[in-house]
Amino acid sequence: MNTFHLSGYPRIGAKRELKFAVEAFWKGAKTEAEVQEVAAEIRRLNWAAQKAAGADLVPVGDFSFYDHVLDLLCTLGAIPKRFGFDAAKLTLPEYFQLARGNATQFAMEMTKWFDTNYHYIVPEWHADTEFKVNAANLIAQIKEAQAQGHDIKPTLIGPITLLWLGKAKDEGFKRLSLLPKLVPAYQQLLRELATAGVDWIQIDEPILAVDADQAWLDAFAPTYKELAITGTRIIIGTYFASVAEHLNLLKNLPVHGVHIDCVRAPEQLAVFADAWPENKVLSVGLVDGRNVWRANLSKVIDTLEPVKAKLGNNLWIAPSCSLLHSPQDLAVEEKLDGEIKSWMAFAAQKLVELGVIKQALAHGKDSVKEAIAASDAAAADRATNKKIHNEAVQKRVAELPAGADQRKSAFAERIKAQQAWMKLPVLPTTTIGSFPQTAEIRQARAAFKKGELSAADYDAAMKKEIAYCVEEQEKLQLDVPVHGEAERNDMVEYFGEQLAGYCFTQFGWVQSYGSRCVKPPIIFGDVSRPEPMTVYWSAYAQTLTQRPMKGMLTGPVTMFKWSFVRDDVPLSVVAKQIALALNDEVLDLEKAGIKVIQIDEPAIREAMPLKKAQWDEYLAWACEAFRLSSTGAEDSTQIHTHMCYSEFNDILPAIASMDADVITIETSRSDMELLTAFGDFKYPNDIGPGVYDIHSPRVPTAAEVEKLLRKAMEVVPVERLWVNPDCGLKTRGWKETLEQLEVMMDVTQKLRAELAK
Ligand code: GLN
Ligand code: ZN
Repeated sequence: MNTFHLSGYPRIGAKRELKFAVEAFWKGAKTEAEVQEVAAEIRRLNWAAQKAAGADLVPVGDFSFYDHVLDLLCTLGAIPKRFGFDAAKLTLPEYFQLARGNATQFAMEMTKWFDTNYHYIVPEWHADTEFKVNAANLIAQIKEAQAQGHDIKPTLIGPITLLWLGKAKDEGFKRLSLLPKLVPAYQQLLRELATAGVDWIQIDEPILAVDADQAWLDAFAPTYKELAITGTRIIIGTYFASVAEHLNLLKNLPVHGVHIDCVRAPEQLAVFADAWPENKVLSVGLVDGRNVWRANLSKVIDTLEPVKAKLGNNLWIAPSCSLLHSPQDLAVEEKLDGEIKSWMAFAAQKLVELGVIKQALAHGKDSVKEAIAASDAAAADRATNKKIHNEAVQKRVAELPAGADQRKSAFAERIKAQQAWMKLPVLPTTTIGSFPQTAEIRQARAAFKKGELSAADYDAAMKKEIAYCVEEQEKLQLDVPVHGEAERNDMVEYFGEQLAGYCFTQFGWVQSYGSRCVKPPIIFGDVSRPEPMTVYWSAYAQTLTQRPMKGMLTGPVTMFKWSFVRDDVPLSVVAKQIALALNDEVLDLEKAGIKVIQIDEPAIREAMPLKKAQWDEYLAWACEAFRLSSTGAEDSTQIHTHMCYSEFNDILPAIASMDADVITIETSRSDMELLTAFGDFKYPNDIGPGVYDIHSPRVPTAAEVEKLLRKAMEVVPVERLWVNPDCGLKTRGWKETLEQLEVMMDVTQKLRAELAK
């Protein structure tokens, strides 16, 4: 038989039970014993579902109260000393303080897990970091699974990836220098696990999927030689991109197998199948662990059969990556369109698919005839269904005329046409779009959705918010006001709900970080815009002021990146379809007199492929899609874009090629470091570096804002410079927001007066 295994399963519970339990614990409304009970029940149900589907080895170590990277740091005793906790006796409240901070220590940093929307806790590495294994928690979970009758395979992140994921906190110190201390800790951990009855262990080294420097790759052979002597059978996990270039390295490691992601990188299967030693396990992931679509079972089985002929039972099957990134169970969705639902599989359904594949490999396709017929029917339906395929949309993208992505004139001409009517002062001021999403706003929206508030009352409530927001900006004398986005729950969902080709689930939650879960929209078909989406609100806001009201849209890359995307056409096609839908909106806004329009692209950086070799191709179509969204706009219409919280230094030429008239970026937290890069690059269009951090309620002093602004004036020509906060203000309260903006305006007035002299 071909072993069916997996490296992780959703851990939040089908109805987010973990989230509610943990948050109740934080508030003191649940005891530790009660939270532990919820956690144990989630693990029990997960393991039982896996076993029922035919899994041979279930994962342990994939459950976490907050983050599995943090858990591993605790197991290795490598928690930051600055908290003063004893890692060997870490309590649950202390564990949460590491993740969330406390009165004296800021929280450990978080960042995105490769190109997913999951955030892990970033290890803090110092030259004097010590490791001291305390595997009690992990071993307790192993015992728990064994007691429930499961064969297990714990999953750990590997030592090389773990070091690489962390941040060097000391000047001139190299993370890899910790490896000689870390490897013995892993050795001890593996030995303790072996004593607890662990035979197989999966050690994930996703660093192999990125372009890591040679020094990191060179660390593999010596490290795994040391780990091999512990006697545990090791399978190395890789995912999210091809590792074919490391075939020889992987072949020669003294481990028992490797897992490869053949959904993200199907081409690597042939490379591995040809050359993989027959006495080692090759685990093939052909069921997508991070998207919501059903597998094409017939194709998967046909692909695997020749591999099985060669490797026999050393072919293993698994999802492409941990199912952590997939929603849990499609069966609980009651409101999804039946046809659309028939094309999907969430984690629970993916388990069943793997069970079918295992059965087919053992007893032939005929033994799973019915499942294959259903899968074939879904695939055939998806290929032709009118809900997905809209000829008009496809034609519009296919027949885009040359130059459709170019504005009528170059920036130098456009900015003159814009200044002619906008008559902005030097250092024009604006905000990034959202204003505080107060409890009243959220309550009104919830009541409207439940049918407790009439459409007319909801409309009136939103207009009242918008009017207040515009009035306050008038008082502040912000040059380019916004309507405040009160009517938007979320910058992607708001548009997805109004675009054809998007659908929404009731319970399709995935963990984003800690207790925070997101329910991404799903792009299932060709995207188009049946009706204007924002014109009503922006036009209303414009009636309240003489100043140019800025319209607010979410860009094509962000629209797909923060969604589950269809996998039957290239992403570039999805992006262009969204761009053209947005273009319809841009032109309608223009007609309605909204002639400053911001198209946000905060996700442009995180949508970059993991491999640098693929960057140029991605950036070419991503930037083209952005430009397409404002195609046909008048020169006098001013297009803004906004980006935040990523590194942009290495993609500045691409950002410039987006040709927005104004870009606003987050800069204040890095002390304007990013801005210096924009200055050095001689960014050609207008630029608004954020002059204060919106993540804190703290009101910056005038001196702080002035310092940042003066720094900006040093690197950006003053006639190109805007003044604005770092990002949207929706998470702030009104009081601090007004105080913060007042400081920003005061400093701007002061510098304007100085410039006038
Ligand atoms: N316009 C959005 C807002 O202000 C932008 C948010 C973002 O950059 N993530 O909320
Ligand atoms: Zn932002």
